[in-house]
Parts: sequence; structure tokens; C-alpha cells
Amino acid sequence: MSPKLPSSAHIREVGPRDGFQNEPEVISTADKIRLINQLGQTGLDRIEVASFVRPDVIPQLSDAVEVLGGIDVPEHVSLTVLVPNSRGLDNALQVRERFHEVALFVSASETHNKRNVNRFIDESMADNEILVKRIDAEDLKPTAVIATAFGCPFEGKVPMERTLELAEQFAAAGCREIGFGDTTGMAHPAYVFDIFSAAIERLPGVEITAHFHNTRGQGLANAYAALQAGCTSFESSFGELGGCPVPAGSTGNIATEDLINMFHEMGVQTGVSLPAVIDAARAAQAVLGRKLTSHCIVAGPVDWTPDPDGPACH
Ligand code: ZN
Repeated sequence: MSPKLPSSAHIREVGPRDGFQNEPEVISTADKIRLINQLGQTGLDRIEVASFVRPDVIPQLSDAVEVLGGIDVPEHVSLTVLVPNSRGLDNALQVRERFHEVALFVSASETHNKRNVNRFIDESMADNEILVKRIDAEDLKPTAVIATAFGCPFEGKVPMERTLELAEQFAAAGCREIGFGDTTGMAHPAYVFDIFSAAIERLPGVEITAHFHNTRGQGLANAYAALQAGCTSFESSFGELGGCPVPAGSTGNIATEDLINMFHEMGVQTGVSLPAVIDAARAAQAVLGRKLTSHCIVAGPVDWTPDPDGPACH
């Protein structure tokens, strides 16, 4: 008997932030706006579009205000921005009317947090608690991301309880959505099932979001395990955009088109048009001027029709 799966799942497209941030090419503001607008026409209803980190740290995302100002997506599309600290939130609020959700973050591992934002976890969380109140006061939705939720390249495995405690802290502060990020691809499906089952049970009313990287080829298997645990909220990146600097040369996020293809094949609806996302990924490919390697860009979706005169598989 096949396992009982949810009938539908939500996907937040994170390519324009998490993806672009890790691409070596400089992507023009106009191209970013064009690609985001195209994503907005695919049926996706959540897109992470910008980050308000310091421009000298991530120059690729230094045009956040211009990008937000230029986006034109349907009303049902909720736009998310990532904010590292109060100065980032100040800058984002200059264009307050252009987005709907603010993502805050912390790493579950002390070393990763220190390297990422040069603060201890407790300092980050104290600041995050203040930021949640400010975001709420602006009538925006505060969301949280726990990076290295499954493991850290510097410290190794992160205890499950550590990640769950941070999630509870975010929930107590007022975050209604909390993402578990597998920053360097250290999760495996059995662990994913256990931690998502525990998080969903311990945090009723909080949306638990799965953010997997395909660093070691387990991204989709992990998504399936999270789905089996009852998770219905996922993040992914069109075109599999966004490598990861750790380990050097690694692939990053799972591809949105691969995730949608798997979900739709299993009868899990997303409301997103798979061909339209593949078109958007191909448009990104044209912007970058090189081939992207998500499975569905290379092979097409399952219902793809092969050339009758082409070679046959063995
Ligand atoms: Zn990611």
C-alpha cells in the first residue's frame, strides 16, 4: 500500500534570492525583474525575491529596492524578502508596500552562525525576537529560517532537539512559518521524517517549511520524506539555480520543476504549471548564458514526447 500523502503542497520559489545569490554571473536588475515577473505567471503564489544583507557582502543582491520597485506580479503572489538584522529591515521598509513576508534567519550551529553573521546564536535570536515585533507592527508576515538545521559543515550533525528548540523560540516570538534549511545537504530521508513529524506535533498552528539542498543527491528523497511526515510547505529554486560555496562547487537548492514534477506525478497538487516553470528556467539559462542542469530541463517532464526518429534508450 502506498503511504498516505497530503493532496496538495505549497511551494515558495527562492531562485531570485537563494539562487541568484550563489550564481557567479552578474545578473542585471532588468533580467531579475523579467524572470520574477515570468515566475509570477506560472501559478506560484510565493516568491522570495530579495535580500537586504549588506551590499558589500553579497553584491549580487544589492539592487533589492530596484528589483522590488520593478516587479509586476498578480495579486495572489506573496513576495518574501530576507532580512539579516534591524538595519536590513529599515532598508526593506523603505519599500514596505512592495512585499508581504519577511524571512529572518539563524543557524542551528554556533560556528555557522558566527561565520555567517558574526554573532552567537543567542544574540541572533534576541535580535530576531525584536524584529518579529516590528514586522508584525507593519502588518507583514514574519517567517523564520533555521539554517544548518540538519548538520553543519564545521560542527557535523546538529542535534534534533537543538533545531526544534530554536523553532519553538521562533514560534513563541510570533513566527507563523518556520523553515528547516539543509544548507549543505546533510539531511537524509529517515531523519527528515522524524524531525518533521516531531516539529509538526510540537508546533501546532505553525507552518513548517522544508528547504532542501541537493548537495549529495538526496534533495527530492528528503522532500518525499517531509511530505510523508505531513509537511505541505516547500522551498525550491527554478533551474536548480544557486550552487553552494560549501563544499566548494556543490549544487544548491532542489529544482522547482523537479519538485513539481514529482509531486504532480504522485497526485500532490501545487497549482503551478510545470511547463511554465520549465520555460522560466530556460529563460534563466539564456540570461546566464550556460546550461542549467535540473532534471526536468534536461529530460523534460514525464509526459514529454520523444522524437519518433530519435535514438531509443536501452
Ligand atoms: Zn537554499
